[in-house]
Amino acid sequence: MDASNSPLRLEHIPSKGKGLIATKPLKAGQIVLTESPLLLYSASPLFSQPSYCDNCFRTLPTQTIPCPSCSHCKFCSQKCLYIALNSSHSSWSCQTLSYLQNKTSPLSTQPFEIQVQARFIVAVYNLLMHNPSHLNILLSLHGDPNEAILDSAKFLHSLVSPFCQKNMIFSDELAAKLIAKERINSFCLMEPYSQKGPQRSIKGYGIYPKATFFNHDCIPNACRFDYVDSSDENNTDIVIRLIKDVDVGSEVCISYFRINKDYSSRKRILMEDYGFACECDRCKIEANWNDDGESKSDLPHVCFLSKYVCDKKNCAGTMAPLPPKDDEASNVLECNFCGNLKVDNAT
Ligand SMILES: [Zn+2]
Ligand SMILES: [Zn+2]
Ligand SMILES: [Zn+2]
Ligand SMILES: [Zn+2]
Repeated sequence: MDASNSPLRLEHIPSKGKGLIATKPLKAGQIVLTESPLLLYSASPLFSQPSYCDNCFRTLPTQTIPCPSCSHCKFCSQKCLYIALNSSHSSWSCQTLSYLQNKTSPLSTQPFEIQVQARFIVAVYNLLMHNPSHLNILLSLHGDPNEAILDSAKFLHSLVSPFCQKNMIFSDELAAKLIAKERINSFCLMEPYSQKGPQRSIKGYGIYPKATFFNHDCIPNACRFDYVDSSDENNTDIVIRLIKDVDVGSEVCISYFRINKDYSSRKRILMEDYGFACECDRCKIEANWNDDGESKSDLPHVCFLSKYVCDKKNCAGTMAPLPPKDDEASNVLECNFCGNLKVDNAT
């Protein structure tokens, strides 16, 4: 986004903080951001065996390659093992995680949420040991610790710090700051779509320092595509594609969850997980709804949902046009979760 021909610019937006603004007129289907993760970590509780590769997060094949030093981490290929041993699964991570995953670990009785935070702390400490310059990027992200985060940070840091050298920067306070950033800046890496379900399980989380500045809207003009299980080399990159045309100077927003959630669930999730009350056009209308049986099918956002929510069983992903070809908008919509394609007859 630093390049002068970038389609987006980071700007201060009144009552929202920072947000991403179109620097020129943008077309439906256009990809406005592709970004590699700064950090990835597993969403599995510590004492379960994930069904995906610990490096690339693709679903594991039947023949797996375990870490030679611990029994916990499994990889899909020698290449993934090699990459991980030199990055996310360094000897420090391996040793520290092995201790935390031991049967006598104080984490065995902790809730899943704390166990996933433990994975995050190991992943982020490991990242900062190898790339200290990433600390400034992480600390520049949104989010401040609350009481619960301060408590879990103290606990988790006390478990991990015996493995850290004395001269390192890590502390209770830093752990709390990092966990607070993790909460609201992470994107989910999803299990692949399955008709049978379970619905939308999460494999892991990724922190994408640019994509994290997309604000939320309940009628978004962009959505995020997830290609974790593709054979693409950059399968954990985040791809943000426009659902509709966007005028120069307008903000590009995504939805932080499935777009067909009802008003009360959206309100609760946005307040509990992201700490704000949404004031988008859809929320303003739905806040005043009373169930009087009146037909609402002519409201703009009802039309939006019927067009852009994927109707495949157990999916409810968001549909966005395929990227334009030779500046010509596509009339084919693609689901960002299951990949379903449908022709949009209205265009
Ligand atoms: Zn792999
Ligand atoms: Zn290991
Ligand atoms: Zn809203
Ligand atoms: Zn779908």
